[in-house]
Amino acid sequence: KFVIFNVTSPKRGSFLCKRQNMANFESVLPQGALCYIDGKWVSAKSGATFEVRNPYSTELLFNTPDCGLDDAKNAVQAARNAFEKWSLETTPKQRSVILQKWFTIMQQKEDKLAELLTREQGKPLAEARGEIQYSASFFEWYAGEARRIYGQVVQSSVLNREHVHVREPIGVVVLITPWNFPTAMIARKAGAALAAGCTLVVKPAHETPLSALALAQTAEEAGLPPGVFNVLTTGHENLQGISRYLCESTDVDAISFTGSTGVGKLLLSQSASTVKRVCLELGGNAPFIVFESADLEKAVKGTMSAKSRGSGQTCVSANRVFVHEKVLNQYVDKLQTALGQLVTGDGLDPKTTQGPLINQRAVDKVQSLVNDAVEKGAKVVFGGKRGKATCYQPTIITGVTNEMEIAQAEIFGPIVAIQTFTDEKDVVSRANSTRFGLAGYIFSSDASQIHRVSRRLQVGMLGVNEGLISCSEAAFGGVKESGLGREGGAQGIDEFTQWKYICTQY
Ligand code: NAD
Repeated sequence: KFVIFNVTSPKRGSFLCKRQNMANFESVLPQGALCYIDGKWVSAKSGATFEVRNPYSTELLFNTPDCGLDDAKNAVQAARNAFEKWSLETTPKQRSVILQKWFTIMQQKEDKLAELLTREQGKPLAEARGEIQYSASFFEWYAGEARRIYGQVVQSSVLNREHVHVREPIGVVVLITPWNFPTAMIARKAGAALAAGCTLVVKPAHETPLSALALAQTAEEAGLPPGVFNVLTTGHENLQGISRYLCESTDVDAISFTGSTGVGKLLLSQSASTVKRVCLELGGNAPFIVFESADLEKAVKGTMSAKSRGSGQTCVSANRVFVHEKVLNQYVDKLQTALGQLVTGDGLDPKTTQGPLINQRAVDKVQSLVNDAVEKGAKVVFGGKRGKATCYQPTIITGVTNEMEIAQAEIFGPIVAIQTFTDEKDVVSRANSTRFGLAGYIFSSDASQIHRVSRRLQVGMLGVNEGLISCSEAAFGGVKESGLGREGGAQGIDEFTQWKYICTQY
């Protein structure tokens, strides 16, 4: 079904655009791809738009508002205006009920939300459904946590005095999120922030704004009042100006960012002038260590979870795989069998188990990392080539060293880059020799080794004999240059609250 409607382009003025398969999106984007500001579905003030395309087929999905500074100011003002009512005139129980309803709506719309996500991001439908379930789980979890934001009363050393500590919402929070989990990276922040009583302005990645807008639609249906949850989409041209404004505005109290370490550092420095709270969920370079005593079936299953999901485009992806020399051949054989069963292609095809990379630039980067490793002596033992469209073959490379680019950069592709080791101390030291410290994984059957290594690895999260570790109940986040703060779990509330001490004489 083709629908013709009027849109404008910043460069070419007004033109007619074909929006394909509109019927597919009606239940999750009934207003089309408009921004959501102050409870209204709006275009950019300038009328400018940018294109959102399917990364596999390059099909044009929507032209989405390319918001400018005026729109950003409106969104922040809407969040500011809504803050007092949401934080002080709404009870935690009322907030909890809305979050619980949001969870239910997400479940009811799972199929359509997942399809939209696959169309704009590329990941296979089963993974997209998993992302929608994972996203919804944060609304359910924080529906509970909203009612457990406890304070403290401390005994005074002075007669007739009381020291009360309360936790208050930090205020207006800007969420800036990446394309690799277009729904989940918003939900993981929004669940906690809304439970705490904050109001939000979401700025999604320009590659995947549609999932953010569909999330706003479900937020509206769940009953979030106008101004509490705003979504501002922007393309390349306005991005830096808007981000700078959001970081520097005195109407914004905190920035919660998920994305690359480089951009995280930039936002941190831009936020310094107003001494804002900044929560950063940044890049990783996860070590994945297979010890001699490991159950290799589990290690391969763990590698598949930690590497193949999102075609390797996840921050917790196994980036450097260290395998004990004695089990290398067995591990590689088993892994090759498992990777050989993956079906790479269009995420919309139910048979596909590994989707495309986000764009051609990402494929070029992965290919150049593979080439560099091979030039420096590594060996491709499986895959190693581009696939159809923006796909890349599942790949195993052996003979990698920590000095190669592939071990230093976030690969963000389906490459298992293997190094070998024989000594526990040596592998821990090599695993820690990076400025990143997000996730890590160890596979071993030796309990004391597990204990020793768990405590010595410099990471914020560790999977022990497990490759899939993230869930709403646990604290997600990194050390070193992988970030500041935690999302999920009871700890996730900390990022969006601040302590107030009230001293009362009676
Ligand atoms: P990115 O840093 O390029 O973009 C993230 C967000 O920042 C997007 O909304 C983007 O529009 C915005 N942005 C980009 N450049 C900007 C600039 N100069 N000024 C202001 N804003 C800017 O990251 P990405 O490519 O979208 O995502 C991949 C990165 O995200 C990887 O490094 C990955 O490890 C990281 N990531 C981390 C986590 C985590 O929880 N730690 C989760 C997912 C992704």
